[in-house]
Amino acid sequence: MYKLVRVCKRLVSSEAKGRDRLQWVTPVGHQTEVVVYNPVTRCKVPLILKTKNVLKWYMCGPTVYDSAHIGHATTYIKSDIIRRILTDHFNIDVLLVMGITDIDDKIIKCALESKQDFKALARRFEMEFLEDMNRLNVREPYIYCRVTDYVPRIVHFVEKLIASGYGYILKDGSVYFDTNKYNRYGKISIPSPDATHPDKKSTLDFALWKAGKSDEPFWESPWGRGRPGWHIECSAIASAVFGNSIDVHSGGIDLAFPHHENEEAQSCCYHGVDQWVNYWLHCGHLHLKGDVKMSKSLRNTVSIRDYLDKYSANQLRTLCLLSHYRNGIEFSDEVMQNAVSVTKKIENFISDSDTYTAGKLQAGEIDENLLLTNTRSKVDSALADDFDTSRAMHAILNLVGVGNKMFRQSDASPRSANVYGSHASAVAVVSNYVSNTLSKFGFSQSASAKDRQVEEIIDHCLRFRAAVRNRALENPKNDALLKACDNVREELSTCGILVKDIKDNFSWRWK
Ligand SMILES: [Zn+2]
Repeated sequence: MYKLVRVCKRLVSSEAKGRDRLQWVTPVGHQTEVVVYNPVTRCKVPLILKTKNVLKWYMCGPTVYDSAHIGHATTYIKSDIIRRILTDHFNIDVLLVMGITDIDDKIIKCALESKQDFKALARRFEMEFLEDMNRLNVREPYIYCRVTDYVPRIVHFVEKLIASGYGYILKDGSVYFDTNKYNRYGKISIPSPDATHPDKKSTLDFALWKAGKSDEPFWESPWGRGRPGWHIECSAIASAVFGNSIDVHSGGIDLAFPHHENEEAQSCCYHGVDQWVNYWLHCGHLHLKGDVKMSKSLRNTVSIRDYLDKYSANQLRTLCLLSHYRNGIEFSDEVMQNAVSVTKKIENFISDSDTYTAGKLQAGEIDENLLLTNTRSKVDSALADDFDTSRAMHAILNLVGVGNKMFRQSDASPRSANVYGSHASAVAVVSNYVSNTLSKFGFSQSASAKDRQVEEIIDHCLRFRAAVRNRALENPKNDALLKACDNVREELSTCGILVKDIKDNFSWRWK
């Protein structure tokens, strides 16, 4: 068991009065080795799971109306890193469910503007999102749930809230949640009022159901045609899958209020419980220099696809690993250059180690026990302390630094097979540890090596094609060979490889 440091002592029962009424209820269940930051208590608390070694996790997914940008990507990568640490390091089975918002104001607006069906638009960007996640090596959730597949459950959810006095119907057929009826509102955040509907009882009240407008998609309900409010969708989906208690619910930090606050309020009222989600987990945002938010409305986003034309998935993951998941990250060329050089440092160390153990390099004396014990304990305690990958990476980079020093100090003179054998084993142990730990973080080493190999093979083949084509272009032209070269180009295009002939040379890229 690791030492649980800086764990909050303010864990009180739900019976307490005043501000305490908002406080967190310690879950009953099975202790883990991990402590996590809890936005309700505003300090770290032990992670206790209802079912032994099983963690039930709901994550708010994308609103599919446009291409995802790297700001979104970092939230999913950070969550993926935490999920992998829980699964691959702490041996906890994570059951991750992700909601996909395929109906909302932005989707309707984009569909109307582009004169297409909202479902077709949403499916297109949902597919793109799944492809992007795959390219970023983000593990798929256990299940994706689309909001439009859950409308009957959402209607039932709202009906129950109205029946129990927590929901009220407005003249236009919209339904709102009555925040004054619920005395734990403001548990996760400091709520700020908004006046989006003039007939609301309180400026803090939020929509459970939005009355339909004539040109918008709608569903029937007992209080009229309309569509679900934003917050109710996640509550209904997560409740359908996990019931009245969830271990972890996550999203970007901007979702804490109003989205998660409202989800918790309506779900506690629906289930008749004091606490629906035991642990809220919020990832810090990616921002541009000067704390400028990356957002589609500000037209300053970098799409995942454009990013991947310039940098690799590993480099973006390194950027996420180097800071704590709760912290924001500044995105700039300088910051990315650091992530690129750290990624290279690790990849080069692993590749040098492979070369060394293959007998091409030689190193000085190595105490693998001392090196590993020290690093391992630092990494283990950092990961158990609110998934502090920044500290863990620091320990790993130190180990890589020591490893690189060993290579630099290597003795060029040949050693006896025995001495060399023991050193090779030490290097292999250290390199294997670095490689395994980074795999646990979702760093894809083998894929990048494999990609490089595939690209080399494509280069060789295309150089051969160019030689054939140049010969065919000589006088007299050989039309049959030129046709064969064109066929190769077309067939490669169907495999996602775009070849461009430039005079007697060529260029190619992945589609
Ligand atoms: Zn949500």
